[in-house]
Amino acid sequence: MLAPYAVSDAETRGRRHPEEPPRFRSEFQRDRDRIVHCSAFRRLEYKTQVFVNHEGDMFRTRLTHSIEVAQIGRAIARALNLNEDLVEAIALAHDLGHTPFGHAGQDALNECMREHGGFEHNLQSLRVVDELEQRYAEFAGLNLTFETREGILKHCSPLDAGQLGEVGERFLRGQQPSLEAQVANLADEIAYNNHDVDDGLRAELITVEQLTEVGLFEEHHREVMKRYPELTGRRVCHEVNRRMINHLVVDLVEASRRRLAEQAPADVAAVRACSGPLIGFSEGVREKNLQLKRFLRRNVYRHYRVHRMTAKAKRIVRALFEAFMADPLLLPEETQEGVRQYERQSGESGKARAVADYVAGMTDRFAIAEYERLFDPYRT
Ligand code: MG
Repeated sequence: MLAPYAVSDAETRGRRHPEEPPRFRSEFQRDRDRIVHCSAFRRLEYKTQVFVNHEGDMFRTRLTHSIEVAQIGRAIARALNLNEDLVEAIALAHDLGHTPFGHAGQDALNECMREHGGFEHNLQSLRVVDELEQRYAEFAGLNLTFETREGILKHCSPLDAGQLGEVGERFLRGQQPSLEAQVANLADEIAYNNHDVDDGLRAELITVEQLTEVGLFEEHHREVMKRYPELTGRRVCHEVNRRMINHLVVDLVEASRRRLAEQAPADVAAVRACSGPLIGFSEGVREKNLQLKRFLRRNVYRHYRVHRMTAKAKRIVRALFEAFMADPLLLPEETQEGVRQYERQSGESGKARAVADYVAGMTDRFAIAEYERLFDPYRT
């Protein structure tokens, strides 16, 4: 059933620590299962996507976002005869390295880590599955397949790539990742653009009226109102939103099918050798999608109410990092041990990396509580 250019179990480049093949499930199903059972995955429930967790129970979190990415990714993979299990594993793991407070947290931590190699959530996701999860007797991390790890690492600087071994090689050689990784990447984009419209409307940061300046929204809104002239409120938003997602997914499948038919890659190696990604929207829809992204940046991500929370989040992350760096004895004991170990290995930068791991692993609410415990004289 899999296309010749799909990644198959038989062709996996394997795990860093060799293991017996799984029984009754595929290698990539095993990856997915390990991801779902790990602690970083559970913490996604309390990490921000755009809206801080305590702002309301109706908004997306990193967990529900990851589930939406998996759903969209699997639908695309199935339509293209790609490996659905691999796409699902990548989708569920892709945000494991996110800091508390979404991009605000990552930007703040990156600034804190400037002298120590920086901080990048994408790289951190790989670090979580390769090293930070401590569950198995025989290895640190989850020992996932090469293909899942490669899919998690969406982008990477040449400097970092050089230190990552085989999973970084493609960035140095200018190669493409598997089609499954390409699908997961675009499923992420389809998911967040659309749920941020929905959440933005719910939070009353934007209005339906404003959204009609976005082509993709406008055309489906017009169609919905023509078909259901009596419809009002949230059901209008959902009818438009689901049509937008469907429009993007159908276009992506059709355009990718055309590209695959033209280039006819014989196998995964041929996919890697292509000059660009083969999974993508048609030119017209790519443009519409960009217009939507620009709208969201201008009207949602930079809205003053979001920006206030962003500024607060950055202050919290910075303050935590600086306090722990200045005095590691403030850390819980088992974390102190890790910090000392990293410091012995790589000095000040090692210490900073261990502190960054601790801060990055926090949920929104845990970071706020730690901040209070450290800085509020009346808290213990
Ligand atoms: Mg994502």
